[in-house]
Amino acid sequence: MVVDVALEPLNVEGNLFSKPIFIAGPCSAETEEQVMDTAVPLAAMGIKIFRAGIWKPRTRPNAFEGVGAEGLKWLQRVRRETGMLVATEVANTKHVYEALKHGVDIIWIGARTSANPFAVQDIADSLRGVNIPVMVKNPINPDVDLWIGAIERINNAGIKRMAAIHRGFSSYEKTLYRNVPQWQVPIELRRRIPEMPIITDPSHISGTREFLMDISQKAMDLNFDGLIIESHCNPDKALSDAKQQVTPEGLQNILDRLVLREPEISEELMFTLAELRDQIDKLDDRMINLLEERMQVAEQIGSYKKENNITILQTKRWDDMLKNRLRLGVRKGLSEEFIIKLFRSIHQESINHQTSIMNQE
Ligand code: PEP
Ligand code: MN
Repeated sequence: MVVDVALEPLNVEGNLFSKPIFIAGPCSAETEEQVMDTAVPLAAMGIKIFRAGIWKPRTRPNAFEGVGAEGLKWLQRVRRETGMLVATEVANTKHVYEALKHGVDIIWIGARTSANPFAVQDIADSLRGVNIPVMVKNPINPDVDLWIGAIERINNAGIKRMAAIHRGFSSYEKTLYRNVPQWQVPIELRRRIPEMPIITDPSHISGTREFLMDISQKAMDLNFDGLIIESHCNPDKALSDAKQQVTPEGLQNILDRLVLREPEISEELMFTLAELRDQIDKLDDRMINLLEERMQVAEQIGSYKKENNITILQTKRWDDMLKNRLRLGVRKGLSEEFIIKLFRSIHQESINHQTSIMNQE
């Protein structure tokens, strides 16, 4: 079950990265000024690795697709003036060539690229004989074998300093997160390649600043190895991923609140618990979406009753409904008391929604 991947510690220039590894910087390099205004305070906070996208894989055309190779000169300046190491995403052999030419210290492969074995193999071939650390983001779909396959392709090209980045997974369903974390996938990666450092990317999981803290803490609680967080000197004006970026100050606030615990229980127990809690979170998320849908239907009923001058509460309908839900619920092992309480409360909420529709002018 364990995959054989030859790894060495993620050192750069004799600089040993101790856990947790914190990587920060903007989603995209936009201007030299924006890059420096973000990098200088991050370096002052003690961040050792600066991230910035130079070529941006955007979902739709006409979105900002990065400044291209010109931005690599700004990263050289960051390196020179702050002493931070610089990291960027590569998606093809031309990007690899440019990044190496400009002395980028660490490269990463993005989620859309990891999902494509041909693209990963091309990148791997162009890295043969080059001694650079490579981080591999999870593919956009929750397929641990595809993720491992991408890691193996890079590793087989002789790259030994590697890390995996967990950035969550796309889903059609509307969820709380931009990319559902599906913690069981990085957990499975840890089981299959125990020595592979796993760095969580709370920014692309959350899609919004407000969840960064929770996701970061969860990654630390799972004993993962680090965080890569998007930080921008003026997040609201960012040309990509504006909602999820934080100022260096905001990032400092998150890092200050982060609790680093020694795992009290074994990693295996912790992982099992995390997987079960993950399932609960997903189910609750689905229940909330279903309740939202239910209230929307209730509102449609409200408008219909209003147009036709019918009263909101139709007692017979409510009696029949409750009887039917009770029968169904009891058959599924739920107590009568619970079903009654639950549906009374759902029904009351529906009435409130209908009433507000009926009272609208
Ligand atoms: C990024 O790191 O800015 C990025 C594009 O991420 P992902 O490949 O995870 O979507
Ligand atoms: Mn981004």
